[in-house]
Amino acid sequence: MRFDIITVLPELLHGPLHHSIMQRAVDKGLVSFHIHNLRDYGLGRTKQLDDYQYGGGAGMVMMCEPLAACIESLTNVRTYDHIIYVTPDGEQLTQGLVNRLSLQGNLIIICGHYKGIDERIREKYVTLEVSIGDYVLSGGELAAAVLVDSVTRVIPGVLNDETSALFDSFQDGLLAPPVYTRPADFNGMKVPDILLSGNDKLIDEWRTEQSYERTRKRRPDLLK
Ligand code: SAM
Repeated sequence: MRFDIITVLPELLHGPLHHSIMQRAVDKGLVSFHIHNLRDYGLGRTKQLDDYQYGGGAGMVMMCEPLAACIESLTNVRTYDHIIYVTPDGEQLTQGLVNRLSLQGNLIIICGHYKGIDERIREKYVTLEVSIGDYVLSGGELAAAVLVDSVTRVIPGVLNDETSALFDSFQDGLLAPPVYTRPADFNGMKVPDILLSGNDKLIDEWRTEQSYERTRKRRPDLLK
């Protein structure tokens, strides 16, 4: 799977996409990340990217021309399944949307800044708008990193144990059960006996019960 990310701050994406599971996914040849510095498409001598809002008001808007030039430099070379704009007024990122996106081949992700991008870019090029939550970040890079990470980790072969992601929260509409590791007794706090029993069937049943219990208490909305 190929991600092309358009940003004015490439260095903000470097860390999240070049460590741990993301780097291993690249090393295994399962994904590739291509970060495009929008500044390279800026206008004139100053490489201008933003301008004042029509109608007045505080905050600059990212201009059409640099974004259009960057997007077209990509779409002229290959076909993309989606051109995504990360934005607070987009569709909420859920595990369902993550799973669907993981089945795609090529994605462009546009990171906004300031007041956001000119509406005409959204109308002409963007095919999917995604929000990572009901709050406002300063720029789209962290949202893009969240989107890329969540999608990449469910691509088959990315995690060492492929079944691991299937038992994470939200995959089956439930929160994940509690997990423990050694020691079995930490300052008098003991790991539940059932997990030490070696009985896989009982352990599975216990985990399912715990998942329901945790979901009932913390996210009853998921059970509706
Ligand atoms: N004026 C915009 C609004 O009120 O909807 C907010 C612009 S925000 C300061 C700058 C950029 O950060 C946005 O263009 C978007 O790319 C990104 N961003 C901020 N919050 C986000 C969120 N919750 N989800 C996804 N992207 C977000």
